[in-house]
Amino acid sequence: MRELSVYYCAKCGYYAYYQLPQNASCPRCCEKMKLLNMPYQLFMDLNCEERDQLLSREILKNCPSVVARITEPHRKANQRETIAILSAKINELEDENKKLNETVAWMHQTIWDLVRKNENSK
Ligand SMILES: [Zn+2]
Repeated sequence: MRELSVYYCAKCGYYAYYQLPQNASCPRCCEKMKLLNMPYQLFMDLNCEERDQLLSREILKNCPSVVARITEPHRKANQRETIAILSAKINELEDENKKLNETVAWMHQTIWDLVRKNENSK
């Protein structure tokens, strides 16, 4: 049997395991999913939080403008400007966060489904 690999959707953060790359398309947004450069077994050994962190970093790698936006204020010495910029960004990020929370809730549900499936097959 071919080994499973970890794939993730850079658009919504959904991840899943597939044997064949052509099967790796996101069921939520129908995007082609990216292969995570980590062996399946290693990924399985991570807990939910570690997986979230790892995938978040991977997703951010594909999105340099977001990283630039977040780190830009730190290069400035002017606190007033920094506060103004951060306040504006917080509003933006709160909107994004709302969407991400929905994704995370959905991801956790998926993980629990997998865990339960796993338990049942034991
Ligand atoms: Zn997706």
